[in-house]
Amino acid sequence: MIPRSLENGAAVLAELGQRLYAAGQLPATSGNLSVRLDEKSCAITASGTDKGRLERAGVLAVDLSGAPLGAGHPSAETLLHTQLYDRFAAVGAVLHTHAPAAVVLSRLRPRCRELELRGYELQKALRGAPDPERSLFVPIFENDQDIGRLAAEVGAYLDRHPQRQSWGYLIRGHGLYVWGEDEVEAWRHLEALEYLLRCELELLRYGAAGGAAVGEGGGT
Ligand SMILES: [Zn+2]
Repeated sequence: MIPRSLENGAAVLAELGQRLYAAGQLPATSGNLSVRLDEKSCAITASGTDKGRLERAGVLAVDLSGAPLGAGHPSAETLLHTQLYDRFAAVGAVLHTHAPAAVVLSRLRPRCRELELRGYELQKALRGAPDPERSLFVPIFENDQDIGRLAAEVGAYLDRHPQRQSWGYLIRGHGLYVWGEDEVEAWRHLEALEYLLRCELELLRYGAAGGAAVGEGGGT
């Protein structure tokens, strides 16, 4: 990869932050965004920043263990970003939103540990994902204020399913994590997953639960 400067990374995150904030996905300083800077570091939003008005001071560099490389306090959830950069050399951007569709759907299905999505043409927007005739699995993890423990859960899932092309997961009652090889792909994956979640919610609203194969307690 071509290394990118912290200034460039901050500018990219500011633009993404504005768009996601305007879409109601990063309310009240929630969520966090990051892009890879090089093999050993990424730029990530600082703790408690308003993502709709992100400035250079609201972004800092951290190493892949989540330790700051300079001044500033990284987001509490930094480890959930850096574990992806550390694990997958091809990951270039990670977006975490509090999208209402992710929050509501994960709460409506309290025992569901893995969404099984099938029959949606838009599954194709996720690189390498199964075509609409086959199932796309999106794990749901329980919300946990202990981020180290939550990161271990995510890592264990990724270890168990190395063959699955994973581009995102839900945290129950909390939000959505999505990644991609760069910010453009991560954005596309985020739009696609958020759209699929909204479709699932609509199906539930019309009493079509299970029609789209929402797994209850299934999977691992
Ligand atoms: Zn969060």
